[in-house]
Amino acid sequence: MTLRPYIVGNWKMNGTRAMLSEARAIDRAAQRYMKVEVAVAPPFTLLHAVHREAEQIGVGAQDCHANQDGAHTGDISATMAADAGAKFVILGHSERRQDHGESDALVLAKTGAALEAGINVILCCGEPLEVRESGDAEKYVLDQLRQSLPEALESASERLTVAYEPIWAIGTGKTPTLDDIGEMHAAIRGFLVDRYGAEEGSEMRILYGGSVKPENAREILAVGDVGGALVGGASLTADSFMNIALAA
Ligand code: PGA
Repeated sequence: MTLRPYIVGNWKMNGTRAMLSEARAIDRAAQRYMKVEVAVAPPFTLLHAVHREAEQIGVGAQDCHANQDGAHTGDISATMAADAGAKFVILGHSERRQDHGESDALVLAKTGAALEAGINVILCCGEPLEVRESGDAEKYVLDQLRQSLPEALESASERLTVAYEPIWAIGTGKTPTLDDIGEMHAAIRGFLVDRYGAEEGSEMRILYGGSVKPENAREILAVGDVGGALVGGASLTADSFMNIALAA
């Protein structure tokens, strides 16, 4: 079985209830693009409302706590996100790592909590600019994955997606060359096959993220081992987001 291309919108800290009309428009358009799996991750405040609008698209969270409940003021657990309609959660995003000091160990703990709560994980990795310039990007990214992904996982290809997002490409309008994207995705593929075996590891989707737009989506999505895109800024309007899905 080959999984469909996966186009995921990460709304980050954007969106009030006025955004529900965009969610509806994305959902309607997705019903016409069945060759592509489309999903959005709204902020927690909109999770349940978007879930109620969504007939076709997947809805997910942008983070979860490593515990399922307890005295953690202001936090949201994977169980709670699932209860609100989340089918997946984005974990280890570089903005969480930077803004909240999240370590690989914490990302691993959150991944375990999400899987335990029955939701799938999109695990983000990616190097900062100085690491890219020093030539160590591949080692940096594979180290992140080695330390933040579970050692073993049943049905890994369905439960886990990796998103490669070079930090210097996020929200900057810059993207790596297609060759660089291809090389990194091939290295990640090798790692996943090693860890989860040939069958699951070769099936798992590896998304590219960082300044994906309708104008560059087609060429990026055509690169070998790119199984979809994690889209920030360009996912905030149905028009630009679905033009990316159309390119898949
Ligand atoms: P961007 O963000 O598309 O706005 O660069 C991508 C991401 O951070 O997931």
